[in-house]
Amino acid sequence: MKNQVQLICYIDRFSGGNIKSLQQLLTGPLKDVFGGVHLLPFFFPIDGADAGFDPIDHTQVDPQLGNWSDIRELSEHIDVMGDVIVNHMSAQSPQFIDFLKHGDDSDFADLFLTFDKVFKNGATEKELLHIYRPRPGFPFTTKSLGNGSKKMLWTTFTTNQIDIDVNGAKGKEYLLSILKQFHDAGIKMIRLDAAGYAIKKPGTSCFMIPETFDFIQWFRDKAADFGMEVLVEIHSYFKQQVEIAKKVDRVYDFALPPLVLHAIYTGNATHLKHWLEISPRNAITVLDTHDGIGVIDVGSSNGEPGLLPDSEIEAIVEMIHKNSQGQSKQATGEAASNLDLYQVNCTYYDALGGDDDRYLLARAIQFFAPGVPQVYYTGLLAEPNDMDLLAKTLVGRDINRHYFTEEELPQALERTVVKQLIDLIRFRNTHPAFNGDFHIDESTDQMLNLRWQNGASKAVLKANLELSSYEIEVN
Ligand code: BGC
Repeated sequence: MKNQVQLICYIDRFSGGNIKSLQQLLTGPLKDVFGGVHLLPFFFPIDGADAGFDPIDHTQVDPQLGNWSDIRELSEHIDVMGDVIVNHMSAQSPQFIDFLKHGDDSDFADLFLTFDKVFKNGATEKELLHIYRPRPGFPFTTKSLGNGSKKMLWTTFTTNQIDIDVNGAKGKEYLLSILKQFHDAGIKMIRLDAAGYAIKKPGTSCFMIPETFDFIQWFRDKAADFGMEVLVEIHSYFKQQVEIAKKVDRVYDFALPPLVLHAIYTGNATHLKHWLEISPRNAITVLDTHDGIGVIDVGSSNGEPGLLPDSEIEAIVEMIHKNSQGQSKQATGEAASNLDLYQVNCTYYDALGGDDDRYLLARAIQFFAPGVPQVYYTGLLAEPNDMDLLAKTLVGRDINRHYFTEEELPQALERTVVKQLIDLIRFRNTHPAFNGDFHIDESTDQMLNLRWQNGASKAVLKANLELSSYEIEVN
């Protein structure tokens, strides 16, 4: 992966069209702004129960967006990252329909994870209560088979997302077919979606257990055979993230978004500084993504302290709601069919009260933090919340998943804050200091001084949290 700012986007929601229009955008008005692009699920269908994260056919491009040749062509202009959704597939997939019809006689019986495959002798209350999920309820859905019998299936996310047995021969064959398709289409990087949930074992939390690492290792080796790098997507306790980072190519820094908010809200960077001292150096940094702002990532776990005290986390959540005039509250928690109750849905721009200076300060900190920065498309355009879309779909995360029209986009790119952000991105992409080492220079609670040094080449960020301002010094 290039050490340059990467874009995250839905092809249609950002470009107002399809893969070809996205290519025009990235080779036209946004030429050379990004070192790569993470295309959010573009498989068939993009408009299912989880905005593409419930593929009926993971190896088919949704015809609304184009085809694999279009992806291939795009990949000749810019490095492309795609999701491999390992944990589940749609209940409408031909494989699952076949399983429903023929049960154990189906060719695909081995592909899906039934309750009894994991709990061969049934499960105790203790075992069931031990299973981790980012919301209440059990991860099982009952389905009726063709012969009239019923079967309980693992459904970690929605009832329309049927969990795959990734350790079975069919599961492995399925995942390899996706890898091969990605490789043929010129995709260079993989985002391993919801990997933490992939392996289930009785008596465990079924989340990020040692066997999950084995699976990630297997997947990473296979991807490496195809010349692809893997970014593992896991929201979890920060110490666990640090451990995960040692075993994978790339991991998200999901602690950064709440910590940057905290530093700006309170004018005090102590907690942020502590994290930057220990955060994984092979991180992909984000402030925003297609999901909400995660708070689990800075929270405590089993009595062990987190990166922020619980009271401070509550204060951040309240401040996001306040800054967004209550909009984020309508989109968060159980209010709006959320899959992860621990994420706050709000654009990052509105979480900072739509204040340009604070927003650019947040981005400057992100670009100086260790790792490769990613910027989500609504973040690039410093967008406010989309309350109309939320009202239409009642999906909390849609508050931050605006559909740009072809007319809206050029106007958005003309805004001063957007132009300033693009200048900052170009600076981060081109200054040689960022290919050197990261240092935290002497700082105070209010002044955070971050430095990149590459031989004589130096870039220093002097972030003044008290005044929400910053200076960048270079040589
Ligand atoms: C994605 C979510 C998705 C979930 C299930 C993730 O972690 O980022 O958007 O809902 O996986 O696939």
